[in-house]
Parts: sequence; C-alpha cells; structure tokens
Amino acid sequence: MSRKSVPSWLHEGARVRDSAQNREGIVQFISEWVDPTTRKAIPHAIFLRPEGGGREWVVADHQALREAEPRRPTGPGSYSRPPLIGSRHGRSTAPGVAPPCTPGAIHAPLAHPKRSTMHSAFRLAAKPRSVIMQPTTQCLPMDCTYCYLPFRNMKHLMPAAVAEAVAAAVNPWAADDPAFEVVWHGGEPLATGREHLAALMAPFKGVQHSVQTNAALVDDAWCEFLMEHGVHVGVSIDGPADMNTHRITLAGRPGFRVTMRGIERLRHRGIPYSAIAVVSDPDPDNAARFYEFFAELGVTTLGVNVEEEEGVNTGSKVADPVRAAEFWAALADTWRGNPVMRLREVQRVVNFAGAVLQGHETAPLPASSLWDPLPTVAYDGGVVMLSPELAGFTDLRFGDFTTGNVLKDGLDVLVAEAEKRTPWIAEFWDGVDACRATCPTFAFCGGAHPANRYFEHGGRMDGTRTSYCTTSKIALLEGVTRHVRTHRP
Ligand code: SF4
Repeated sequence: MSRKSVPSWLHEGARVRDSAQNREGIVQFISEWVDPTTRKAIPHAIFLRPEGGGREWVVADHQALREAEPRRPTGPGSYSRPPLIGSRHGRSTAPGVAPPCTPGAIHAPLAHPKRSTMHSAFRLAAKPRSVIMQPTTQCLPMDCTYCYLPFRNMKHLMPAAVAEAVAAAVNPWAADDPAFEVVWHGGEPLATGREHLAALMAPFKGVQHSVQTNAALVDDAWCEFLMEHGVHVGVSIDGPADMNTHRITLAGRPGFRVTMRGIERLRHRGIPYSAIAVVSDPDPDNAARFYEFFAELGVTTLGVNVEEEEGVNTGSKVADPVRAAEFWAALADTWRGNPVMRLREVQRVVNFAGAVLQGHETAPLPASSLWDPLPTVAYDGGVVMLSPELAGFTDLRFGDFTTGNVLKDGLDVLVAEAEKRTPWIAEFWDGVDACRATCPTFAFCGGAHPANRYFEHGGRMDGTRTSYCTTSKIALLEGVTRHVRTHRP
C-alpha cells in the first residue's frame, strides 16, 4: 500500500472511529509496523490513542477506520479552533480554572472555567539549566510494563544535524553556566550505538553529559566510552529482583539480571552512578529492604518515583495516600540510620521541613517566579518545553505539544518564544495558579508536572490535584515531615 492510498482525512491529530473496536481515537502517527503475531511488516499502520490519554492501539488496515463526527463546543472553556493537523506542529488551547483542593479528592477542571489573567507576563526563564536529548526512540532490550513511551519498539535515530542545531544554542548558555547538563534519555540512549552517540555529543562544548540507562547494554567498551566522554551515569532499576518485576525484556523475561550485569561492569570499572527506581507498591514494610539494596550497590543518589498513570501506561494502580505517606516515612527512617547516599525526594523535603520547623519563610512562590523551560529535543528535532513525558504524543487540541523544531528555528529562539508559540503552556499556567490559590502543599510542590495533569484530567492541563501529586508530593511531604518531627532533637 502506498502512502497515497491513505485518505486525506487520515493524518496525525485526526479524530477517527475504529469500527472493529467500536471506539474513537486520535491518530498519533502513521508508520511501518511489524505485526508481532504474523511477523509481517505493514508499511502504513495507524497508531491511535484515546482522546485525552489512554492506552495506544494499532490498526493495520485503514479501511477499518472512518472519519469521526466533529465535536461541538459546549461552553466557554471548550475548544473552538480547529487544530493544525497534518503536521507534527499543530496546537490549540482552551482555558480553565480548577476547584479547591480538599484532602482525598482528585480534581478535574470546572465545566465553565474562568480564564486566569496572569499570562501577560512570561514565566519561562530565558535560559534553561539543562536540555534533554532523545537520541533514539528505541528501548533495548527492555519493555517495562509501566513505560509511557509510544515509539519504544521503533528505531528512530536522531540525525547529527539535530545535535548540531541544539549545540549552537547550548554552547553559549554553557559558557555562562559550568553546570549546564545535556541529558541523553530514551528510549534507551545506549541503543543509539557508541559511534552515533559520539557523533551526537561532538558538537557540544563545555557541557556535562549524562545518560539515563537500563544498563543492559553496558559492557567494557561502553565503560570506556562513558569514561572517555566524562558522562554521568544514571541507572533505571526498581530494587531487588522481587520489586523489579515490571522491568521485563522484549522477550518477556525478568530484566533484573541483565541490568545487574551492567551495574557490575560499572562497579568493576569504578564508574560512579546514580539510580532511579519506580515503586509500584509503596509498602512501608518493604522500605528498609528497598533502601539497603541500593546502599549495598553503592549508588551515589537515589531518585524514587511512585508509579504513575502517564502516556500509554494507563494500567497503574493508584496508591493509597496513607500507605504512601507511611512508605516515605519508613524510607526516611532507614536513610537516617545509614545515610550513605543522597535520597533525592527525602532530601528535598527534609530541606523544606527543616525550614518550616525553624520558622523560615516558606511562602508559595509567586506567579512571577521563573520556571526552567527544560527543553526536550526529540529524535526529529521537535522541542517540547517543561515536560519530557509529552514528547511523542499527539492531541486533538494541542497537536504534538512541540514549540517548534530546531532544524527550522534555533533552540534559543524556541525558548525565547515558547509561551507565544505553545498554547498548552497557558492552560498549564491556569492549573498552576489554581494550585497556588487552593492547595496547602503548593509551597513545597510548586504545581507539579504538565504530563500528570494532562493524562489524569482527560487531556486538560488546568486541573489541580492528581493521583501522582497525592502520592509523590502530598504523601511525601506528610511522611517525611512525620519522620523529621519524630527525630527532632
Ligand atoms: S500539583 Fe502540587 S500544588 Fe497542585 S494540587 Fe497537587 S500537590 Fe497541590
């Protein structure tokens, strides 16, 4: 089937009806796909996702699809401008303000929201402190059950021209900021291959490179590469084998052993590394064993994320906030007894709680505070601000969430013009303002992440509380503050 045989109404961002499955979805992209059952390559398979988030599905034959009826606007907060579809850069927006935050409630936006008037001033800083690069969409050899990346089974490689365009903006920023970080994130960045990754790193001057890896591909040759390029290493592993069960290989086998093999190579070569763990079940009874596992591995810093609903991962359980708070308290207790590493989340809240207990100023940040734009550059040069998790997704209202493409405009231009070019950011500021006005945890949290709002609030950015912030901000603050109070001298 040639691309020409795909009807014109079927394009990225279009809303379509899948009659075989009797449901509607938004076209994420149209691309070659190998059917895992028949092993047959389908040249123009249609990748779909429910509007506003949900699990992706693939339709091999476009004949099964029909153009969906257009939705009618229903109120002042509803969408009224057609999206810029057919390209990877379409966007639109809609306003909203969320209701007050009450404990235990998960809030979605009001049906008839009032638009905030605070957006006349820009809130993104003129220069980021770091940039996230996605050198490949492919994840090898892992296929974690909670992964949110839509393209992880495809090998899209970043061309050198994208890295060169990014470096043209980053190098002057790094000249003023010796800590400027270029983070190579995935997919699995090592799946890019050493030669190509070296070519992508080459244009950058005066930056600190980091990789976040599943470590499965780490061997002596990779160790040489990491040392030669002075790369900071972060490993993704969820704990001992029985807590690492969601990290499986593409073959469906436990991924623990392959990751540990890579970690052993790093340790053997004396390469320091940090770790990021996803906790699917924040069981307080497991907190000590979880912590000691990482202490024995000798990680320098441990970041802990409670599993969240994001992207194509809509199957995660929502953790009980009381249990989550007990988990964080138990983790802080264990860390205090053996503080051999930096425990990222606990450290943040200990600093905050210490300031509260000493009566220091902990007022919420004002609306005028600047946010780091945190640009994420996808393999094709598309740039998504503030939220790496949104890269690769397409939405009826927001298009593909990108601010632009570095192959067309410089990254410095995209950062400077991000708020003018990217309407979803305005809707996100509405959500942050609603959090500031209503949530007692805002001074610590600062308003949390766009992707969690988007995926948990049916495709809107202006809701407030999410299950993510309940377990990872509110329960964290509560649990660790409890620990600090208990151990106050
Ligand atoms: S995102 Fe942060 S500030 Fe907003 S409701 Fe959640 S905890 Fe509160």
